[in-house]
Amino acid sequence: MEIKKNDLKIKCDIMGCKNLVNYSVSTSDNPRNNLNICESCLKELHKQFSKVVTPKSIKNIYQKGGLNEKNK
Ligand SMILES: [Zn+2]
Repeated sequence: MEIKKNDLKIKCDIMGCKNLVNYSVSTSDNPRNNLNICESCLKELHKQFSKVVTPKSIKNIYQKGGLNEKNK
């Protein structure tokens, strides 16, 4: 998955949003499947992601890394 800056003259894919697209989130090789969103929705999504992805899960990744080191 990749997020690219985009200035397509199409509307944001987020329901209820009437802004023009600023970014495309590519999820496959077919550009038709891209999620096209505006900057304001991208920022809002980022804000919501940071609520869901807590520092605790980052700690878990480090712990898993530690276990992998022991397994070598
Ligand atoms: Zn939007």
